[in-house]
Amino acid sequence: MFTSAQLKAWVDYANDMGAVIIFDAAYEAFVTQPGVPRSIFAIEGARNCAIELCSFSKTAGFTGTRCGYTVVPDELLGGKLAKMWARRQSTKFNGTSYIQQRMAEAAYSDEGISQCRENIDAYRKNAKLISDALDEMGIYHTGGVNSPYIWLKCGMDSWDFFDRLLTQANVVGTPGSGFGKNGEGFFRLTAFNTYEKTAEAIERIKKVL
Ligand SMILES: *Cc1c(COP(=O)(O)O)cnc(C)c1O
Repeated sequence: MFTSAQLKAWVDYANDMGAVIIFDAAYEAFVTQPGVPRSIFAIEGARNCAIELCSFSKTAGFTGTRCGYTVVPDELLGGKLAKMWARRQSTKFNGTSYIQQRMAEAAYSDEGISQCRENIDAYRKNAKLISDALDEMGIYHTGGVNSPYIWLKCGMDSWDFFDRLLTQANVVGTPGSGFGKNGEGFFRLTAFNTYEKTAEAIERIKKVL
């Protein structure tokens, strides 16, 4: 997640270079910080250089069932890219199943919107709980504010940290090294659980770190 000013610098750069930005907006529903846009199209000039990927996974809990959408503006390559994308989708993809489409539709109903909001607020509270606990333990971390995940520095190999949490605390997380070589030494915790279980996990983590 970038601030408007940071994104604007990228948009200007891409327009100067004739490059395309692929913007991952998976966490847009979690954005709360003022000055952090939920869509790259809030930035002037983005329609000439950006493609946005949106997902129901984090917004409406579709992580297992899967549904998303892509915004390809008509301004890109004079409309050629939007046509290419439509062609690709219609020839290489059999389409989102009907039941998932109805679920996605329901997520936009008044009831769906308020339930999603309630859910996201609960996850945000969990993220804050984790974040505060890490602060208390003096562990460097980021995320959890505009995202449902907390990225922390483990002070050891990612997989050693994983084993330690698993075997000593019975808590599971994601080793940062799985995200690429720069993720080595880091770890990802998720806020996707109940408040009670999150609090319990934190208590256990505190005991072994
Ligand atoms: C979960 C996630 C996605 C995945 O979206 P899907 O629609 O489930 O494939 C993309 N980007 C980020 C950063 C995510 O955390």
